[in-house]
Amino acid sequence: MSEPKWKRELIHGYQTFRNGLYKTQKKIYSELGSKGQQPNVMIIACSDSRADPSDIFDTYPGEIFVLRNVANIVPPYEADDSYHGSSAAIEFAVNHLKVKAIVVMGHADCGGIKAHLGGYAQQEPSSFIGKWVDILATANTDKCHGGTAQFDMELNGVLNSIENLKTFPFIKTALDAGDLDLMGAYFSIEHGKLLFADEDGEFAEVGV
Ligand SMILES: [Zn+2]
Repeated sequence: MSEPKWKRELIHGYQTFRNGLYKTQKKIYSELGSKGQQPNVMIIACSDSRADPSDIFDTYPGEIFVLRNVANIVPPYEADDSYHGSSAAIEFAVNHLKVKAIVVMGHADCGGIKAHLGGYAQQEPSSFIGKWVDILATANTDKCHGGTAQFDMELNGVLNSIENLKTFPFIKTALDAGDLDLMGAYFSIEHGKLLFADEDGEFAEVGV
């Protein structure tokens, strides 16, 4: 019986990696494997297959600590008995890896943002997605970035995640000590353009 297409593609990709990129980065992998990781930056991005931080920032293995979830959302700090996978990754990055910066990167055509704007939480109350994207209800929708409602929400969602990061006590501590920076970013996909946000939440294109 032949392997399914998806599996053949994964194996082909792995073999290409092993015979190409891995060969040139063998020493890096070997050192990282024995000495551990020490990334300077954490990137919180969407799970969307079209906006991959390691591609966009052309990073080496070990260079960025990445959290990807639906719509690059950071939930507010909640000290309860629930499972908080995203918060656990953030805690690990800040308290244990001691990253110098956390970058929250949104992207164009985000399905999670669409779900939020379309009222998915009300339509599908038992859905994990609906409850998750409803975190965006606290985003500042008065802030206009000069685009469509979807574009504005994609950017305001990034800013909402940054505000929520500040609700974590260990992040407050790191910010007060000057040990951590927070920054918003946005990837256009269609044109391959990257925007960075300044401290006032205004986004501007990064030069190439
Ligand atoms: Zn997305």
